[in-house]
Amino acid sequence: MKHIIPTLALILSLGFTMPALAANDYPTNEPMGGEKFGHSVTHLGDNIYVFRWWVYRNIFIVTDEGVIATDPMNPKAAKLPKQEIAKVTDKPIRYIIYSHNHHDHISGGTVLDGKSAEFIGHENLAKELLDHPNPTVPAPDITFAKTYVIELAGRRVELEYYGPSHGKSLIVMRLPKEKIIFTVDIVTPRRVAFRNMPDFWPDEWVRTLKEIEATDFDYVISGHGPATEPAIEPASVVTQQREYLEDLMAAVKTAMAAGTRNPNKLRQVIKLPKYKNWRAYDAWLPMNIERIWAFYHMKW
Ligand SMILES: [Zn+2]
Repeated sequence: MKHIIPTLALILSLGFTMPALAANDYPTNEPMGGEKFGHSVTHLGDNIYVFRWWVYRNIFIVTDEGVIATDPMNPKAAKLPKQEIAKVTDKPIRYIIYSHNHHDHISGGTVLDGKSAEFIGHENLAKELLDHPNPTVPAPDITFAKTYVIELAGRRVELEYYGPSHGKSLIVMRLPKEKIIFTVDIVTPRRVAFRNMPDFWPDEWVRTLKEIEATDFDYVISGHGPATEPAIEPASVVTQQREYLEDLMAAVKTAMAAGTRNPNKLRQVIKLPKYKNWRAYDAWLPMNIERIWAFYHMKW
């Protein structure tokens, strides 16, 4: 931990990531093709790394007894954290932790490691995989219902389930000594919610964020963010995310109570100027509005 605080202070004060250690371009036949994909690695200090591919991020932690890795992304991208891990240690990957069941985050498992690692995920993820099997998503070797603790060479990682929020298997990964949490999909700083909020449960999402806010942490690593966004953020981004959702839900509820029930109209008339500088505000706010309309209209 002794090296991490100066590095974090530097990142937070500069407001952008440290220079990428590696970068590659990829062909355009990737998921949601047409983009240029690059990757980078940020060492936060104390052997904690944030890996980014395109707008996806995971973390890996190097110990004397092996590596704790997380979300293997997809089969093509997973080669990259594998290479980056090999640059900094010759120790095996001991654990690969799935953040949740969505295959855009976890379908590179057999590429990241096909031999030594044990896969860990929430018990609901194991059930989801029975319905949606994927040869590159190994079933978790270790499952849990509420919490699970990894202790490896003096490093402690706590896994926590807060109930449904985004899907029914999303967990928070916590480094308690460093007061860092790694959250995927439910906290994306300074960006409106993803498109039409697929598999997001608005009220459960708000409840989950409130419960996370009540825990002890100072820093957040998000599972999404382009290269221009910091690798690590202050804890306040969780509150900002929750406030955005509450403001969005209140605006839709108020407009519907006042008589605007047509989702096309709601998309046109509702604005949230407080968030106009957030990423994807113009493109995705109307989709967020329609999702919240469905939540109130259908109770879904
Ligand atoms: Zn997801």
